[in-house]
Amino acid sequence: MAAGQQIFEEVRRNSGAEKGFAMELIMLKPVFKQMIWGGNRLGTDFGYEIPGDNTGECWAISAHPNGDCEISEGEFAGKTLSWLWDNHRELFGNAEGDRFPLLIKIIDAKSDLSIQVHPDDAYAGEHENGSLGKTECWYILDADEGGTIVIGHHAKNHEEVREMIEGKRWSEFIREVPVKKGDFFQINPGCVHAIKGGTLILETQQNSDITYRVYDYDRLQDGKPRQLHVQQSIDVIKAPFEPAAAEGTTEQNGDAVIETLVTCPYYCVKKIVLDGCAQWSWDRPFVDVSVVDGCGTIDGRKVEKGTHLIVPAGYGAMKLEGKMMLICSAAE
Ligand code: ZN
Repeated sequence: MAAGQQIFEEVRRNSGAEKGFAMELIMLKPVFKQMIWGGNRLGTDFGYEIPGDNTGECWAISAHPNGDCEISEGEFAGKTLSWLWDNHRELFGNAEGDRFPLLIKIIDAKSDLSIQVHPDDAYAGEHENGSLGKTECWYILDADEGGTIVIGHHAKNHEEVREMIEGKRWSEFIREVPVKKGDFFQINPGCVHAIKGGTLILETQQNSDITYRVYDYDRLQDGKPRQLHVQQSIDVIKAPFEPAAAEGTTEQNGDAVIETLVTCPYYCVKKIVLDGCAQWSWDRPFVDVSVVDGCGTIDGRKVEKGTHLIVPAGYGAMKLEGKMMLICSAAE
């Protein structure tokens, strides 16, 4: 072991011992959701045991009551992430807040999702019982040849937003853009959006649920159209549409290329492409890590496409080895 590495191991052991808990990565077991628009790629592409051929979502890092991930090994095996947040806040750098701040999902859209928009914190707080708004972002893991998604609209101002929605002038209103593997989109509150069929996405979002459905292609579920939220949508859609600025700064770290995809008031998301070995730490209270391609090790522990974990506070640098791609996030 090199001298630097030895000191680093020493520091890590001491910092764990001082706090009275073992410094372990928090390994998580995903929760799956069946959806009318879901497919089977979470099984075929990611190797998960999925509940059926219409599995739309893998809640990979989640402490949400509708899908609270279990810790899969170690001292806290069998406990949920929300339990860990409530009872061992030191693992999260004593971060404040009544709930774990982010929610990381993998979404397999076999068919189109409804066209929707989320409110910001101010609107949700006033109209949704003090709830939070929602900001989210998408890393495109795969997309069909010629695939598209909906981001934004073509109305020139707020009055035109109202006219186009009330007049159901969808083809004029909706801004559909081509999408391919490796693309990244930040979706701020007030931005109309929809995932279209044939897309596999890693979504990082605020841990909130408030969604206003603008249009659902006049589809029926159990013989009835799904509920729309026309007035709320008109209230919160921002006009004219302006794409969120992309960040895309990169740094080289050993054999890893680390790209910052976005920094916004709620999270920062980075992509790590590793081919070899790197020592990496991120100066944040805790870090969410999803392996989205390839395989390797983190401090000697085997990880592969589909592994999700949290690096707890005080863990220090990680030694990454292998050929893999990681999407990492930290709450702001
Ligand atoms: Zn959304």
